[in-house]
Amino acid sequence: MSEPIPYLDLRAQMKPLRAELDAVIARTLDNCSFCLGPDVVQFEQDFAKFCGAEHCVAFNSGTSALHIAMLLLGVGPGDEVITTPFTFVATSWAISYVGATPVYVDIDDATFNLDPKLIEKAITPKTKVVMPVHLYGQPFNVEAILEICRKHKLPLVEDSAQSHGAKFNGKVVGTFGEISCFSFYPGKNLGAAGEGGALVTNNAAFAKRARALREHGSTVRYYHDEVGYNYRMEGIQGAVLGVKLPHLQKWTDARRRVAHRYHELLKGTPLQLPLEASFAESAYHLYVVRHPRRDELKAYLDANGVGCALHYPLPLHLQKCYANLGYKNGDFPFAEKAGRECLSLPIYPELTDAQIDRVAAAVKDFFAK
Ligand SMILES: *Cc1c(COP(=O)(O)O)cnc(C)c1O
Repeated sequence: MSEPIPYLDLRAQMKPLRAELDAVIARTLDNCSFCLGPDVVQFEQDFAKFCGAEHCVAFNSGTSALHIAMLLLGVGPGDEVITTPFTFVATSWAISYVGATPVYVDIDDATFNLDPKLIEKAITPKTKVVMPVHLYGQPFNVEAILEICRKHKLPLVEDSAQSHGAKFNGKVVGTFGEISCFSFYPGKNLGAAGEGGALVTNNAAFAKRARALREHGSTVRYYHDEVGYNYRMEGIQGAVLGVKLPHLQKWTDARRRVAHRYHELLKGTPLQLPLEASFAESAYHLYVVRHPRRDELKAYLDANGVGCALHYPLPLHLQKCYANLGYKNGDFPFAEKAGRECLSLPIYPELTDAQIDRVAAAVKDFFAK
């Protein structure tokens, strides 16, 4: 058998950047700028510019950025936040951390993103925020959701953790909502050498308070205006992200090339392929196909040297940690069906045409048997 194709290969991206990364990490060690510091400040400016936003505040994770977003919008105990049950759990953590309640709304069957048509029915006097996710790299229907937010005077928070550089109607995600949160977890489209995250906003007061909250609630050292957190980005992560950011557009283009090749090769198969909505230019964080025989297909691909993964097998409303919310099987049929049927094929900028062809051939073999 030829070399296995890993589901994700971070080493391929590290190799060509290694000398540059070594140099900036060494500089950080020489300067001892370990927590925040000049490289983080520079990265914040560069990433804000990339998003077309006025402010970027860097954090130690995307989860921390989402948590602070909830605090900035005054979400607290007794409040409700409308969000998707089909995402990585951290979207809901932010809501739980401030003592509020996630209120789930089902996804759209074709795009996996929150279905705008179902949002209004879920709004109550306790609703404080609407927080959808640009899932798998594909922007949600920003226009439709913003219209509902404006009508009900609700702020929008974008969970953009999977969608650096994705475009809605030609404009990069990050400034459609009051706040947009990103993750730089190593496997994300822009990954640190460890944990990292950021919050992006055009609201200067939010940015100022976010900077204080991430640093123990202080703007002057040892004076604490409110209860804060230790959510600072490390200096080394700022340095690494600064080296990688200039490559992001090229990497996004490469991800789109991989997706289009998969699409051409797989369009005759029984798989349901990712649908790019007419308004969307996906950053293809993931390439997720669907089939009722998903588990058999995954076992077959695993056995034939093709790595694949599940994002996400169990929707959040059915997770043990949220049993107290009182949801049951059948509440969100499309999220549940997606959980049963979706399969993520390998996608990263460095994936070669030959590798893509082998993945597609293995999929076709499975259905030919
Ligand atoms: C990765 C991710 C997060 C959390 O980011 P971390 O940096 O891992 O804390 C939040 N939401 C979504 C949708 C994610 O994919």
